Amino acid sequence: MSEYQKIIPIASQILKDYELCHHCLGRLFSKQLHLSSNKLLGKKLKKNFKSTQKCFICNNLFDNLNYFLKIMIDCASDYSYRTFSVGATLKPSIIDRDDDIRSQYKLMGIDNVKTDITKELGKSFSKKTKKVLDFLDPEINFLINFKNESCQLYSKSITFSGRYVKTLRGITQKQKSCINCTGKGCRTCLFHGISEFDSIEGMISQYIFKKFGGTTTKFTWIGGEDKSSLVLGTGRPFFVKLRNPNKRKSKLTSINLDSLKLKNLKIINEFPKKPITFNSSIEIKISSKSILDSQYLKKLKNICNDPVIVHDKSGKRFEKQIFSLTYKKYSLHDFSLFMKIESGLPIRRFIEGGDVSPNLSELLNCECKCEEFDFHGIEV
Ligand SMILES: [Zn+2]
Ligand SMILES: [Zn+2]
Repeated sequence: MSEYQKIIPIASQILKDYELCHHCLGRLFSKQLHLSSNKLLGKKLKKNFKSTQKCFICNNLFDNLNYFLKIMIDCASDYSYRTFSVGATLKPSIIDRDDDIRSQYKLMGIDNVKTDITKELGKSFSKKTKKVLDFLDPEINFLINFKNESCQLYSKSITFSGRYVKTLRGITQKQKSCINCTGKGCRTCLFHGISEFDSIEGMISQYIFKKFGGTTTKFTWIGGEDKSSLVLGTGRPFFVKLRNPNKRKSKLTSINLDSLKLKNLKIINEFPKKPITFNSSIEIKISSKSILDSQYLKKLKNICNDPVIVHDKSGKRFEKQIFSLTYKKYSLHDFSLFMKIESGLPIRRFIEGGDVSPNLSELLNCECKCEEFDFHGIEV
């Protein structure tokens, strides 16, 4: 007896007890018969039965899929993407009736009604839009709610890497959050979490929003600088994740945003997982309270021989290396230091003293003040 003949009596019994649509009936046996179309199998099994009522399990939901397909197409109209997947929320009563039938007739290892509906929707959507169904890592994920006939769309975030060059003093690195939502995103800030764009973070975000749409950005900076610092040379590296992007592709090169230049902006696969270590070349303008003693200045470069010991607020001890040091004296009280330093050396505290040993004030035997500092290069 063929597999098909074996299932005929079970299918007939079920149909005597319950009214089922082609999809739901076929689904109960298609896996066992290795068939891909539930609908065709259901049709075949049901050919001698007349339908008088709606499907006991799904209430003829499958007849209505075109309606939900339209909702999906509307929902995705503002997005460009290649791959997608579909999820669904069904009325619990549908799931319960599906479970009841499967346990009553001891049908094992078959798709449940929800899986089948999302499969069918996925197939139809793909056929209609030529987008690729990808359940593992889709760019867009639809969540169809059959209870209230709505559709939510989740767009996978994209991550960029780049470097910024800052040629104007007075710009902070970080942007203050929107006061209304403290950064979560609200109508006032158009769900960006920030409502002003006058920092490095704000300017980069604004550029990305303009090109890719999306809601919020999340930055990882490779170090930071003061509001008054410049960042020159090849610039400071950063990573930024854009949530819910509308677009996923755009030509990116070097971008000039007035006092800010973005270099090498590109899309990467993921955020760096480990903290990144780096070295910075900096120029520090320093003034001293008493007259500078050249004898001490000349000895400064010896500091490169040993690490500098830093204690943080909690008392934790760090060692940071200064790789090179030169200076330029402008007057009896003013000079600049040029150093290449390991990331994490607190510059201001190294100059003025404060749980950093040795520090400049100590080495020059006079009180020093860090006026401003600029970055000439950052190596990762
Ligand atoms: Zn059904
Ligand atoms: Zn807001």
